[in-house]
Amino acid sequence: MIDISKQTVKVDCPECNRSISVTLKQVANEALIKCNCGQEIQLKDSNGTNKKAIKDVNKSFKDLERTLKNFGK
Ligand SMILES: [Zn+2]
Repeated sequence: MIDISKQTVKVDCPECNRSISVTLKQVANEALIKCNCGQEIQLKDSNGTNKKAIKDVNKSFKDLERTLKNFGK
């Protein structure tokens, strides 16, 4: 089962401009991450966009799974 929340996105550190990989789940949970330079970055899921996207995409995969299962019958 594919889980979109494990997909990673890149955020730029405001301090050193290094790009850091974070999972969509971390963004949805608005996790506090730390860059290698020591700068802490507060992830923001504005208006719950990522949370909603994860839910929608996971639902689509579930629907697809169901369709494929029914297809095999
Ligand atoms: Zn940094």
